[in-house]
Amino acid sequence: MTNTSSLIIAIDGPSASGKGTVARRLAAHLGFAYLDTGLLYRAVGLGVLRAGEGLDDPAAAARAAGRLDPASVLTLGDDPDIRSDTASVAASKVAAVPEVRAFLLKFQQDFGAKPPGGKKGAVLDGRDIGTVIAPQAPVKIYVTASTATRADRRYRELQDRGENVTEAAVLADLQARDARDSNRATAPARPADDAIMLDTTNMTADEAFAQALAVVQGKLPHLR
Ligand code: C5P
Repeated sequence: MTNTSSLIIAIDGPSASGKGTVARRLAAHLGFAYLDTGLLYRAVGLGVLRAGEGLDDPAAAARAAGRLDPASVLTLGDDPDIRSDTASVAASKVAAVPEVRAFLLKFQQDFGAKPPGGKKGAVLDGRDIGTVIAPQAPVKIYVTASTATRADRRYRELQDRGENVTEAAVLADLQARDARDSNRATAPARPADDAIMLDTTNMTADEAFAQALAVVQGKLPHLR
């Protein structure tokens, strides 16, 4: 049976906007479950590559989505390659395939309706949570930052991972990914009409979290 009383908080936005940090911290603060939905698309993209198939083959992407084991989804973040640049690019390619999105939709909705561990709510972070996965979510925040700031954050993150990248390549990659994500026909990345915008360009992670929490508490005053 679906737990209709579960509260969903939708956090969307482009990569390196700070949405992951905001979402993770909100979930920890509120005692909610947390799902980084980008990991699902990354896992599908890596699945295609590991099967030796082409990222431009929609049928291969759909097969890789079908091989995802729902039971292992909470541990996808443990895969050492999942945060790599290769996985990000692969993710944004398979994410344009309607069959892949349809397959992942139910999983994300089930997670929101029945958060693991009996938690009373879930924070989902992605690109289409407020528009497609949980349009009924009582709180939707769209986290953004300037392209230059996002590229800089992403560059530092990849450097910390020991990846050999240049700032120019990271910027070009980010822009290509933004274009693919916002121009695809199925569930393009965009703010829901009722989303609150949070621009983190000139904010520290603590400030972004504090503002997001204020938005949540403004909408749902019983949450502390
Ligand atoms: O957020 P992250 O960078 O991990 O996402 C990787 C890619 O997965 C995105 O560029 C996007 O193409 C896709 N994605 C998506 N819908 C989501 C989450 C991620 O299309 N809800």
